Amino acid sequence: MPPIQRVLLVGGTHGNEFTGAYIIKKLEQHPNLVHRENFETVTLLANPKAFAAVRRYIDKDLNRCFRQVDLQDLTRSSYEDIRAREINNLFGANGKTPVDVIVDIHSTTANMGLTVITHEHPFNLQLVTYLQSLNPLVKVYILPKSQESSSLPSICELGCTIEVGAIAQGILQAERFEETEALIGNILNYFELYNRGEIPLFDNQLTCYRHSGTIDYPRNESGEIQAMIHPKIQFQDYQALSPGEPIFLTFAGEAIVYEGTSTIYPVFINEAAYYEKGIAMCITQPQQVIV
Ligand SMILES: [Zn+2]
Repeated sequence: MPPIQRVLLVGGTHGNEFTGAYIIKKLEQHPNLVHRENFETVTLLANPKAFAAVRRYIDKDLNRCFRQVDLQDLTRSSYEDIRAREINNLFGANGKTPVDVIVDIHSTTANMGLTVITHEHPFNLQLVTYLQSLNPLVKVYILPKSQESSSLPSICELGCTIEVGAIAQGILQAERFEETEALIGNILNYFELYNRGEIPLFDNQLTCYRHSGTIDYPRNESGEIQAMIHPKIQFQDYQALSPGEPIFLTFAGEAIVYEGTSTIYPVFINEAAYYEKGIAMCITQPQQVIV
């Protein structure tokens, strides 16, 4: 594979996820922090209007606007559709200044710690394995490529999405901010070492969590939610949930148990932005991989 020439660091794809947005603002003022010898790093506040309004988006989720067919459809005229085209025209494969890697920084109200989401590409797997070898607390969540085909990073084969939490929408948490900055520093260091052909030997055993589906809240015929996340699993992201264990609690205080046939490892539990998407949690299966 050719060397990495240009890296795009993105924050504020969702306007109320302040960690990424303020990291980008800081880096705009201190570009020396991302300066590396053998590649260029550009920064992008992806949804400035939503950030100013402290909203996830203005018209629609920007992180679902990047399907190639939608980017070609010039009749799409929402703020986020236009913004997605601008971003693609700048940084996509046929853009003015195409990038080789995209790192998109998000935060979540779920207790995901420091999660790196990527799809199964050898370069991406090497990167996340390196990150986990430096910091064993880094969780790796593998999404099938088809699942992320409308996301901003999908305009580029290489890269990842960072999800840090639990952080409420529209706030900053200093500790999480600094952990995320350190993770980004390690990512850029990796690219620099990669370009030099000097990646050190590191533990090549990766613990990852593979996406296998989603679970919605119990709802009535009008789509109204009929139960909450059960307190026993609130903030228990990446922990095992076995059949027969409580998953939801009705407003009358009755537990609803998980009725699946096998143990699952839920993530994005009670993510605020997913209520409208019909997702109470995503489900994963842990896996050990030798990369
Ligand atoms: Zn987000």
